Amino acid sequence: MKFIWMMLLFSFTAAAVVDSEGVLVHEYGDGLNGEYITRYYLQVGDEMMPLSLSREFLKKQPIHRWLGSKVQVFSDQGLEKNKNNPIMAVKLIEGANPVSGSQPWISLLCRFSDNSDEPKNLSYFNGMYANQPAGLDHYWREVSYSNINVVGSVAVDWVSLPSPRSTYVTIDNKGDEDADLSLLFDDCVGAVDAFVDFSDAGNGQSFQGINMMFNDSLDCCAWGGSRWRTLDGVQKSWRSTWNPPWSYANEGVIAHEMGHGFGLPHANNSDGDDNPYDSPWDVMSAATGYGVNHNTYGRLGKHINMYFKHALGWVTDANDGFVADSQSDDVFLLRYTAHQAQTGIKFVRIPLSDGTEYFVETRKTVGDYESNLPGTAVIIHHVSECRNQPPWVVDADDPPADYADTEGVMWKTGETFIDPIDGFEVHVLNEFTNGFNVRIKASSDLIRRNGFEATCF
Ligand SMILES: [Zn+2]
Repeated sequence: MKFIWMMLLFSFTAAAVVDSEGVLVHEYGDGLNGEYITRYYLQVGDEMMPLSLSREFLKKQPIHRWLGSKVQVFSDQGLEKNKNNPIMAVKLIEGANPVSGSQPWISLLCRFSDNSDEPKNLSYFNGMYANQPAGLDHYWREVSYSNINVVGSVAVDWVSLPSPRSTYVTIDNKGDEDADLSLLFDDCVGAVDAFVDFSDAGNGQSFQGINMMFNDSLDCCAWGGSRWRTLDGVQKSWRSTWNPPWSYANEGVIAHEMGHGFGLPHANNSDGDDNPYDSPWDVMSAATGYGVNHNTYGRLGKHINMYFKHALGWVTDANDGFVADSQSDDVFLLRYTAHQAQTGIKFVRIPLSDGTEYFVETRKTVGDYESNLPGTAVIIHHVSECRNQPPWVVDADDPPADYADTEGVMWKTGETFIDPIDGFEVHVLNEFTNGFNVRIKASSDLIRRNGFEATCF
């Protein structure tokens, strides 16, 4: 009997759950050659502990909305630095910072100490934040329907980092370049700290984000994410981007990295390949593909898909949406995404029996950011929060196209999408100046798949 008790005690100890408190830190890397990297950490004191999040975990706990927040992380071994730490659960301790209102960013222009190049001048970076077409203040106001602005954003002129590029970018054991994003952050911020007050963006609050512009390539990638730091007495998650010259040559890339700073993951098409940059309908997928070309700022950003806007609170079911259910048979005008009217329906949300959903919207080749899109059409995203890229553009073609600029993803007058999961129908009836009339109809014989599991990729 004693022996059994000892066995029980031992097995209980071995299975003990260790919980650690800290702040969720994220980094998304975007390669010039199509590679992409996703990293999550728990910031505990001065240490960043890498978190390994399985698909099964993400299916239960989509943490994209908690990035930058204080959380409790449960693991079976405890967390260690420089280790792959498999995670069992994450619990939110303090509510995520809402992405609303004034979001002033600051651009820091940092030269490596062994390189005097200044690829763009200060006025280029200041002009990038303008509240006029092609400026990021104008852009984010339009994309968010004025839920955010970046008014008060400024750039600081070129400064030298204390060390040469080789200090920040080293060669890893696979022979690839590896940029030390924390050191780059600390040294780039440190180089301006004597004359920049990060706690005061001129509007009574601190800066929200830091765009770091470097004068040479980093590793594979441009990066967007966050850093938890105390700057000028303000301790918080600073939205952060790390940009090589090819990044700020096209404003769409900066918009994409700022999107990561706001906590957005990538969007994708439906072809199932390993490339998340193959939907031209979303700045969080193909950042520059089918973007409007601007003389000074290159390819500009496009809108983000309606699921992302919904997740950020920039559109709501009550004000902007139509939510389908098993009784739906409704006809209405679905306004095009870039339309700035405060009234009208901007999206249809169709919750499905497997826990996934569709977001239906109209895109139109019009305006400062969307006029170069592949076409004017109803676009449908299937959203599964357990995927690394939750929204995928639905494609009628089989197999789906490699790049989602084909007719298969554009639902036009006379075409009908029939959802293969629950049988919802989206009929595109006719086109008007401000959008398409659509009919949303539940299946008369609604297919409810018991126990059907959404596929996680
Ligand atoms: Zn990205």
